[in-house]
Amino acid sequence: MSDPAHPPSPTYCVIPWTHVFADEQGQMRPCCMAIGDRSRANTDADGRPHEVGRPGGITDGWNSAFMRDLRHDMLAGRRPDVCTQCFSEEDLGIRSYRQDANVTLGAHITGALAATAPDGTVPTTAIRSADFRLGNQCNLRCRMCSPMSSKLLIPEWRTMFGLADDDPRMTALERINWFDSDAFWDNCVALIPQLEKLHFAGGEPLIIPRALDFLAQVIAAGRAQDIVLSYVTNLTTLPDRVTTLWPAFREVKLVVSLDGYDALNTFIRFPANWQRIDTHLRALIERSADYNCTKITVNTTVQAYNVLHLAELFEYLFARTAPNVVPYPRLTLLSWPSALSVCVLPADIKALAAERLRAFVDRWNGRWPVEGAELERFTSAIDGIITHMRGSDTSSELPEFVRRTRAFDAARGQDIRVILPEFAPLFDELPRTAGA
Ligand code: SF4
Repeated sequence: MSDPAHPPSPTYCVIPWTHVFADEQGQMRPCCMAIGDRSRANTDADGRPHEVGRPGGITDGWNSAFMRDLRHDMLAGRRPDVCTQCFSEEDLGIRSYRQDANVTLGAHITGALAATAPDGTVPTTAIRSADFRLGNQCNLRCRMCSPMSSKLLIPEWRTMFGLADDDPRMTALERINWFDSDAFWDNCVALIPQLEKLHFAGGEPLIIPRALDFLAQVIAAGRAQDIVLSYVTNLTTLPDRVTTLWPAFREVKLVVSLDGYDALNTFIRFPANWQRIDTHLRALIERSADYNCTKITVNTTVQAYNVLHLAELFEYLFARTAPNVVPYPRLTLLSWPSALSVCVLPADIKALAAERLRAFVDRWNGRWPVEGAELERFTSAIDGIITHMRGSDTSSELPEFVRRTRAFDAARGQDIRVILPEFAPLFDELPRTAGA
């Protein structure tokens, strides 16, 4: 017998027994954290990735040789290559996705192990959790994003990187449509009887009508009350239909991607309309029961464009403190594309950013919206930004930062010097190069 406190081996993770994940291309990986060299190793005998958009795709990929080996490795106490991210974090003392999953899905460890065949096969009826990144259909084209997550970026990328109109990588990304296929949604219907957690991200999942249709199927099957539904969304849209669908589910949790306050958010996450985001956020707070929205967490990707003005976004959120809103955003340090990282910035801008972040903390010390573990995580993340920014100098990529910025500005009719006047000297000084 196993319980969450006593998994069957020190490297055991419940995810390959209970969770199905597909990335924007519809390709199956063990989970979103499986990003090592072998992250795309879940392939069939012909070397083709297992895909959730093929007939029977989830069943085939779930018990592939790769997945069976992964389970055997974990039971034997080995650290699978594909799981490097989790184990690296644990070695640094950071709580990993694996450790969290072994708690949140821990009730299923014993049953899933009992159902495991000697060759590592696990029945698909053990799948309790699904996480689907519904392709690259998005209504935004964020500066730090890529056509893998938003196909609207393809024309700008062709210009910025000098790609031919028939560049095969862009053509393939333009054609991603598995999330609109009957095969994918039929595969999902087969999961309805046992699901407990259902997570959609994208692209922008709230603009995919079939994802809402699927919720109606879950409700018709009488399973919605047993399922926690969650999304990563840019909140530029909030379809009316959700008020008739979401209340049937056990809970609805949203992670809202915001990278700046008002015009800065639009500059980075173009062409997001801040007033609409604010209206939707207010609706989710003031009519939380109508939406059955129990938790809203903002995620902010900390990057060169926003590190000087994070406090304005933080204070906007503090002014919207509510029972269903986590007042402190989750701060994710951007590492790719490396030219947009905070580490590329000149020393004077880094110093100004650090000064403003410290002033923000001083201003709120003693009167934070909520005390406790979440506040500690938030303030230590702010310390981490300052340490990271100072500890790493990648200013050799500054010309690339400027080149990309000018390319986006030209394509969008924007000017960084208007939105971020602190950058004006940098952009006035550095000469224009080809394509910039
Ligand atoms: S150990 Fe980490 S990367 Fe591997 S399956 Fe578990 S959660 Fe995913």
